[in-house]
Amino acid sequence: MITVRNLTKSFKGQEVLKGIDLTIEPGEVVAIIGPSGSGKTTLLRCLNLLEVPSGGLIRVGQIEIDASKPLKQQQGLIRKLRQHVGFVFQNFNLFPHRTALENVIEGPVVVKKEPRERAIERARRLLAKVGLAGKEDAYPKRLSGGQQQRVAIARALAMEPDVILFDEPTSALDPELVGEVLATIRGLAEEKRTMVIVTHEMSFARDVANRAIFIDKGVIVEQGDAKALFSAPKEERTKQFLSKFI
Ligand code: ADP
Repeated sequence: MITVRNLTKSFKGQEVLKGIDLTIEPGEVVAIIGPSGSGKTTLLRCLNLLEVPSGGLIRVGQIEIDASKPLKQQQGLIRKLRQHVGFVFQNFNLFPHRTALENVIEGPVVVKKEPRERAIERARRLLAKVGLAGKEDAYPKRLSGGQQQRVAIARALAMEPDVILFDEPTSALDPELVGEVLATIRGLAEEKRTMVIVTHEMSFARDVANRAIFIDKGVIVEQGDAKALFSAPKEERTKQFLSKFI
């Protein structure tokens, strides 16, 4: 579904991704874990070109972006790629002046030029699916953080993406609201949706992900079956990192 080859990213001369190679298979749920500042968010943002990589190849399905070539000439491909890759942000990023329903139909209507009625029908279904039936007309500021994040998940689903990227989806939430968002993501995992999740929720990652990837200082230190990686990490750095969560 996603292939990444030798992905690099520098900010002002500081290399924060140092040649990442990665493959995500259809139906896989992959958790990306690692210390703060290790490059997890940057990696995720590079996958749908929210961040401009310094080098490397990113392929999603049949669409391939070569970051060593000028991205200006690849804008059409990038737009296409983004239609296949949903993104759920840490801070929800809902349109504040649109209702929950309007947030969810925006992509299908504006980007995909879908008939409004069809988009509305799907949005109602998706809002119900994330437990927000009856909240269609609520504005984001009237919703809790957990509800806003579930609207954001419905919005991502509305584009019918091949893969959804989650960037620390619960880290901006009050502790009592974390569970409802994790439960929603768990439900999507049970449907065998392809997802990549940057998270600090280790027990969630262990239980829900098929594969875990441990990143430190811009390199993949270790990856493998999530349960195996959490119960018996092989690398010293992984052991050290995980020991902080016990
Ligand atoms: P993580 O998600 O693992 O906490 P990030 O990907 O957010 O790590 O950040 C990796 C490194 O890149 C950090 O040193 C961070 O300060 C730096 N960084 C991230 N975004 C920017 C940016 N827009 N400008 C400059 N430096 C950045």
